[in-house]
Amino acid sequence: MMAIAGIILVAKWLAKTKQRSDVSCRLCKRAREQRGASTENLPEETYGHINSAFCDGMSTSVTAAHHFIWRHLYASMQAAQTSASKLRFVIPDKESSMNTLWQKEDFEQICSRESLTEKAADIEKTIGVKEHERERYNFDPTIFYENRFWNRRPDGIVINKNRRTLYTLEFKRPSDRNEDFLRVKEDEANEQRKSIIEALKTAAPEWTFGQMNFVAGRCGVVVEDDFFNKLEKLNIQAGKKDKILLAHMQRICEAHDTVMRSYYQQVQGHKK
Ligand SMILES: [Zn+2]
Repeated sequence: MMAIAGIILVAKWLAKTKQRSDVSCRLCKRAREQRGASTENLPEETYGHINSAFCDGMSTSVTAAHHFIWRHLYASMQAAQTSASKLRFVIPDKESSMNTLWQKEDFEQICSRESLTEKAADIEKTIGVKEHERERYNFDPTIFYENRFWNRRPDGIVINKNRRTLYTLEFKRPSDRNEDFLRVKEDEANEQRKSIIEALKTAAPEWTFGQMNFVAGRCGVVVEDDFFNKLEKLNIQAGKKDKILLAHMQRICEAHDTVMRSYYQQVQGHKK
């Protein structure tokens, strides 16, 4: 495979080496052509772009890679709890919005739904309304803020009822630190944390709330100390930490391979 030398033959690179004059994304172009949309202002086909859900051609495989890595990490952390641990990992699924979690998980004992809705609305008002949200906002701002809060989806929730502690867990798989989409992801995670954690803090002051972000770097790059600190906070057995990290890194590489394979297949298909 061409990626073997650490070089991904995205259009941006091909253009740099004078093999292509056009740096716009070939996959996005084809996807737009297929649905009869305009091919004006195509994004650049950079490594970061094709590794993001913002690429029309890659969003399915990139999203699948994200779920694949996170589902396994979450399950392995849950399975490696110390026997004394009173932490409970709430299993997130497609339906796990704050709304369903509050009903299914008996979170009424943390604080009432009404009081959380009230506190959350105050915080949601401080978070900007995005272009795609504008219509719903104009229809009814109060309901919009409430719904936006209850529709937020943490990647995971870990709770210790005895100690009155709750962490939301967020997983990110950035591919290029200089790309805009990473900033968008950071913003999303921060916005989510701000809304959920701050609302909970004011609604249930006797509890402790926090958010833990897990960031998978490029294939083979995980910040070890940071990762182990988080495992410790989550009561993972000391003897299992290395094994979890190793398996996690293998899955990151495996997922990266799958994503790259999908990219090359599509680029090859494009030439025909
Ligand atoms: Zn694209």
